[in-house]
Parts: sequence; structure tokens; C-alpha cells
Amino acid sequence: MPERLLEIRDVHVDAEGTPILRGVDLSVDAGEIHALMGPNGAGKSTLANAVMGHPGYHLNAGQILLADQDISSWPPDARARAGLFLAFQYPESISGVSVIQFLRQAMLARRGVEQLSVLEVRLELMEWMERLSMDPAFAERHLNEGFSGGERKRNEVLQMALLDPVVALLDETDSGLDIDALRVVARGVRTVRERRPSMGVVIVTHYVKLLEEIEPDRVHILIDGRIVESGGPELAAVIERDGYDAWRVAVR
Ligand code: ADP
Ligand code: MG
Repeated sequence: MPERLLEIRDVHVDAEGTPILRGVDLSVDAGEIHALMGPNGAGKSTLANAVMGHPGYHLNAGQILLADQDISSWPPDARARAGLFLAFQYPESISGVSVIQFLRQAMLARRGVEQLSVLEVRLELMEWMERLSMDPAFAERHLNEGFSGGERKRNEVLQMALLDPVVALLDETDSGLDIDALRVVARGVRTVRERRPSMGVVIVTHYVKLLEEIEPDRVHILIDGRIVESGGPELAAVIERDGYDAWRVAVR
């Protein structure tokens, strides 16, 4: 695996014919955690979706490279197999499908194998659930049926752990997450990285609180479809104190 895991080069993205991203550059090296911050509507989720190849987001210009391969025109499933991970924030609840069955399907796809015994999946899952201090009964729950915010997050972290991504994109949507749910994500990322120190992480958030738990190497501020500033973790503290206003003025 090369040192440079993900390279986003001068990416321009449209959603439904409207330009949203207007030239975004972002590179993630092995073992780095990047935080992408910005106000509502800045284009953070658009960037995560475009990197994953969501068909609703059209790459007008620029390139996306994963481990030196240009994946710009690859469909989402090929990107996932190559090791890009974007948690589905709100996957449909599928009645009758348990957490373990869902994870098994995802693992089959990522590993590109036809067979993976239920026992094998169960063993790996149980190991991870123990590391993450999760109740083993969670594996048998029906996917997303009556999940709390924290349980959705646990499911997301489990997926990340079992899929062994090269780069994990975590889009922490802007509403309805309490601090306990954020801690689940932060602790999960830390635990997975203890085992897989080379994994790259891009965590999308506008909660400075999350960054106190996760300690990013780099912080980027996205406003109106452009990264207007990048810096170290101290940038998050500036945002906490002053908000985004200083940069908003700079954009206009
Ligand atoms: P953020 O995640 O930073 O809050 P988004 O990427 O969700 O921002 O949205 C950025 C802008 O793009 C918003 O103005 C939003 O309305 C628009 N947008 C996002 N997704 C779509 C879409 N699928 N179709 C049309 N407009 C979209
Ligand atoms: Mg968003």
C-alpha cells in the first residue's frame, strides 16, 4: 500500500445540475485522520458521496485517486471493494435481516469471495464486539429496527472494523446526534486504529466536541464548496470560539 491513500484533486461536483463543489483538493496519507468541517450546506456530505461514487453526484472535473489508482469513474461497489468505506448513515431497516447477516453480506462484497461461513463471521464479529465493549446480543438484532442514535453508530463502527477499509469516510450528519453517540464513533475509530494503524480517516463533522475525542492530524474548513483553510487541530478550537464567520467573509 502506498503512503498516499486518498487524493482528491481539484474536484468539481454537481448535484441535480447545480454546482456544489468548486475545486476541492484533499490528500490523506497512511495513518492520518482528517476532519472536514463547515457550516450546514457547505458541501461536506456532497464530497463524501462524490468520493464514494454516489450516482446523484456528478464529477464535472478533477480526479479521485485511491492508493494511486484513479477511481473517478468507478461505480460505488468497485470503490468499496478497493477499500473505500462510507457508512450508510440511515440504511433502510430491512425486516428479518439481522446485524450479523447484514455484516456478512458486506464482508463478502469487500473480500470478493463467494463463501464466508456464518461461524467465521460470528467469531470475527464477537471479537470486535468485545473490543468495542458491545453487548453480543446486538448481533442478533434486526437491522435498524428501533435502533437508537447510539446503536446506529455502533453498527457503523462495526461495519468499519469488519470491512477493514483503506480509507474510512465518516459523515457525521449535522443533526440529532447526542454527545454519547459521538463518543461511540470516537472510541470506535480509536479502537479500530489500534489494530489497523495505517487506516486513513476522513471525518465529516461540524461538532468541535467530536474532535476533542478523536484528535485529527489535519482540519479542513469547507465553505460554499471550497476548502478555505487547512491546519492542525488548533483550527477546530478557533472555530469553536469564533464560528465560521471570518471565512464566510473571505469567500464572498
Ligand atoms: P453539508 O453536508 O455540508 O451540510 P451538503 O453536501 O449536504 O452540505 O449540501 C450542499 C449543498 O448541495 C446544499 O445546498 C444542498 O441543498 C445541495 N445538495 C446536496 N445534495 C443534493 C442533491 N442530491 N440534489 C440537489 N442538491 C443537493
Ligand atoms: Mg452533511
